[in-house]
Amino acid sequence: MSKILYVEDNLANRLLVKRVLEAAGHTVLEAVDGLEGIRVAQESTPDLILMDINIPGMDGYEVTTRLKSIPELKDIPIVALTAKVMAGDREMALTAGCDGYIPKPIDVDLLPTQVDEFLGGKREEVPAAQERVYLRQYSQQLVDRLESKIAELTQANAELQRMDELKSRFISIAAHELRTPLTVMQGYLTIILDPSTGFHLDDNLIEMLRGMEKGIDRLNRIVNEMLDVTKIEGGTLDLHLGPLAIKDVLSRAIQQQRPFAQQRGQQIIADDFGGYPLVYGDPERLLQVFCNLINNGIKYTPDGGTIRIYGHVIHADGDLRTTKPVVSQGDVLEVIVEDTGIGIDPDDQERIFLRFYEVKDPSLHSTSQSRYLGGGIGLGLAIARGIMEAHGGWVWAESEGCDHVRCPGSKFHVLIPLATSVADQNQAINREHDQMTQDVSEKSR
Ligand code: ADP
Repeated sequence: MSKILYVEDNLANRLLVKRVLEAAGHTVLEAVDGLEGIRVAQESTPDLILMDINIPGMDGYEVTTRLKSIPELKDIPIVALTAKVMAGDREMALTAGCDGYIPKPIDVDLLPTQVDEFLGGKREEVPAAQERVYLRQYSQQLVDRLESKIAELTQANAELQRMDELKSRFISIAAHELRTPLTVMQGYLTIILDPSTGFHLDDNLIEMLRGMEKGIDRLNRIVNEMLDVTKIEGGTLDLHLGPLAIKDVLSRAIQQQRPFAQQRGQQIIADDFGGYPLVYGDPERLLQVFCNLINNGIKYTPDGGTIRIYGHVIHADGDLRTTKPVVSQGDVLEVIVEDTGIGIDPDDQERIFLRFYEVKDPSLHSTSQSRYLGGGIGLGLAIARGIMEAHGGWVWAESEGCDHVRCPGSKFHVLIPLATSVADQNQAINREHDQMTQDVSEKSR
């Protein structure tokens, strides 16, 4: 027989109608709200839709209007089955696009016949003059609902923003509060472990104190990351910019990360960056970015893998210039850090640059800088993005997807403005400024 979709939030009503119509030989599909109704209708193209009007979210009128706007569904008869039985409710349902109206409570003896009539082609109509009146009323109703939804969304957005600010404040306060006791502990440890201060420590004690030192180092790294995020968000990240050879930064980063790679039997292979033009950047901040990218490469690559670092100059008119939001307008150096690791799903490739975003299970958190898949607190890439943005550069990820068996690998691209292009831009700005000054003085003469 026929396939009937019943959109109704009330379970008792759904069960009753289902029983009655199934007894009459029909198949009944159910949906508890408008969005589910639209989805089920699209998936299973029913022969008839029974629509409750008072449903949560979009009401039955709105769902009907939406269904009638979908070309594949527009010819399916929709019958309002509703307790809205005030004067004008029938006309309103028909104006919204319904083809018929059955008032509730339903008459169980009559319902199969009523449904058969609509299946057989029966259509109810409102006279054109009346329809115009109801159409205006319906449009007004829609605008009112839209207005209240926008107000709700604006309020929810403001609340989210307030919570985000609170979170940022908490990060900032926590980081500042943790820093002082950490500095004190670190100071005492340095004194105790310094042989010249004359403390008599046996080997066991030294080992324990070294363990504490490592823990404090780790805490310091976390606190520094929290402070960096705070600075990036507040726009107070101070960069000590100048022309520099990227080769020096990369050599230091590789030197710092090589011991971790060796623990995992991995190789770090880098091109010789000696022949590249100078970039314009802060050496310590760029070191931080590359250490983070190489360290992630180590952590998300199985034992024995490879981290490769290579690059090239991209001229101002290169393809990437149009697709990446690079602030700087001149030539840039692109450095790529590529690993042979698990890779990153396309959906996650932008999200991993959000604060605290981690793709994997948080139970894999690790204090180690080399443990396979051992995540940190999820700030490293957010900081790398903030630092590169402050340089007028950019950093982004590319990967075929995440696969722990096949290991398609990931590539992290870093764009750094060249020193020459920054100098050119500065000259251009100066020229523009001189010209403006000249124009102004000529006009005032
Ligand atoms: P974390 O401190 O967790 O490493 P990051 O901000 O550095 O934080 O990285 C965020 C997330 O991005 C990681 O938890 C990981 O899921 C993913 N990720 C980062 N680098 C890689 C990579 N080279 N390969 C695969 N996934 C990566």
